[in-house]
Amino acid sequence: MIKSGQIKRQRQVLVVEDQALNRDILGMILENDYEILNAENGLEALEIIQTHLNTLSIVLLDLMMPVMDGFEVLERMRADERMRRIPIIVLTAEKKAELRALQLGAADFIAKPYDAHEVILARVARIIELSEGRQLIRAAERDSLTGLYNPGFFFEYAEQIYRYHPHWSMDAVVVNIERFHSVNDLNGRLFGDTILRTLGDAIREFLRGTEGIACRRDADRFDLYCLHCEDYHTVLQFFQQKLNELSHRVSVRLRMGVCPAFDGVSLVTLFDRAHTACNLVRGSYKTHLMIYNEDMYKRELYSQRLLNDLRQAVEERQFRVYYQPKYDIQSDPPRLNSAEALVRWVHPELGFISPGDFIPLFERNGLIHVVDNYVWSEAAGQIAAWREKLGMTVPLSVNVSRTEVFDPGLEKGLLKLIEDNGLSTKDFKLEITESAYTDEAEQLVAVIEKLREKGFEIEMDDFGSGYSSLNTISSLPIDVLKMDMKFIQNIEENNRDFRLVELILDIARYLKVPVVAEGAETEHQLSLLRDAGCDYVQGYYFSRPLPAEEFENLIRKEIEMKKERKV
Ligand code: C2E
Ligand code: CA
Ligand code: CA
Repeated sequence: MIKSGQIKRQRQVLVVEDQALNRDILGMILENDYEILNAENGLEALEIIQTHLNTLSIVLLDLMMPVMDGFEVLERMRADERMRRIPIIVLTAEKKAELRALQLGAADFIAKPYDAHEVILARVARIIELSEGRQLIRAAERDSLTGLYNPGFFFEYAEQIYRYHPHWSMDAVVVNIERFHSVNDLNGRLFGDTILRTLGDAIREFLRGTEGIACRRDADRFDLYCLHCEDYHTVLQFFQQKLNELSHRVSVRLRMGVCPAFDGVSLVTLFDRAHTACNLVRGSYKTHLMIYNEDMYKRELYSQRLLNDLRQAVEERQFRVYYQPKYDIQSDPPRLNSAEALVRWVHPELGFISPGDFIPLFERNGLIHVVDNYVWSEAAGQIAAWREKLGMTVPLSVNVSRTEVFDPGLEKGLLKLIEDNGLSTKDFKLEITESAYTDEAEQLVAVIEKLREKGFEIEMDDFGSGYSSLNTISSLPIDVLKMDMKFIQNIEENNRDFRLVELILDIARYLKVPVVAEGAETEHQLSLLRDAGCDYVQGYYFSRPLPAEEFENLIRKEIEMKKERKV
């Protein structure tokens, strides 16, 4: 019986070379370390490879041969899943052929005539070692659910392709499942797993026979690194179709982002961009595919610029707070009730920047507190300043981003502002967008309860844009509903929209809270809202958001009217 260690099984090398002399030289160089098989042309080589698939460690392949040349062998081996695993070193005297062979997937080359024996031995040994190592890792490093690579290995592998095959034109692709959490919650984890596995299979089928690789990046995100393709619509459709076949009852939607390789852009960045593209179509009903393009690149640069410039902007006080009035429309004429503080950025080089361009960006990057602290402190100071100067207290509301609600220092910071400016908490209202209430609602409610105990009033912003059910909102601690602008836009022409507004007013009555309608621009909208029982309006009809100096005029007018009412 042979015990391991007694004899060393020699690795098999196939030498494919039409010239007998060359075969002999290579044989001599390799015979001490390897078991050598010989073929005289491509056809013969393929036959031997087929019969030694599991034992062959490497093929040394001449390119110029009769019957079937080396290029064809390379191509055929690459197209075959099982042969593809065997590394190939090409034997060539021609520089030009070398490049093409490498492009076709050869691992290395040996130049003819063969002289430096040690170099040849070292190359063969190195390539075998690399390829065996890779196969070992490959077998171990798979995602157990889908059988795709796991992310660590995927990136290492992709990195190698990126580095060693700079001429291949590759795409970074990110595939994601819309609202996968809900799909899981509604249909159970088992069904969720089936979706992931089916998608994994579809991706594998798409990549089969190509150089492309894929992994499951996290729960429902799949990353692909594959040869450039012009028609990702068809690819996405193919994946989507596989999921559609799973169930007629449950509809699962995919979205896809693609970033073609750009010169000099790192792999990590390529995937970040594909991910950005993929997120741009999140939740969209019409578009599910986005290819990263020049525009997005520019926007990315712009965003990066804004992130970089934030600190300096605060130091140099480039942010300006504007104030937009809220009027009580049930009194006649309407009375100034309060105002919302809205930030603008006057950038020394980029000019006037709307909050829509930087607020979501800072929220995503965890920097929003920098802007908001600035705005809150301005607003608190402004209430005090107007009271001092004009003798009237105009309550202001400020926006509180959802991430801030979870800042443990929030309450303390706000109370300090109130105290420092000699205000009452009633004068400083907090607007929190409805969608903030959908996740981690319990924790949010706890924080808000405490703020209300201190006397802060909470306005639920953008009401109607989120997904909260009547059940949830009736248990939420809020003092005011701010109806989302989109409800008002078409109430003049569209009766159905007006019915929705009435419905929201009904909900508010049921909750016993007043309603602020945002975005009223015309007299007609105003009268419709008033007649329907809406309490307050904030919109261009009364005024756009104004700098503090201009807003003063509105306060003065209000004071005048008050005097007249008294007379
Ligand atoms: P928002 O809180 O819903 O603020 C109302 C937005 O509607 C403001 O846009 C306001 O200018 C606009 N608006 C008001 N009336 C009308 C109207 O009649 N017609 C039209 N077309 N628009 C009207 P703005 O100032 O561009 O702010 C956009 C969003 O940026 C705000 O929406 C808010 O979510 C956010 N934001 C603004 N300032 C701050 C801030 O200091 N902190 C935070 N966290 N977010 C802010
Ligand atoms: Ca707001
Ligand atoms: Ca709003």
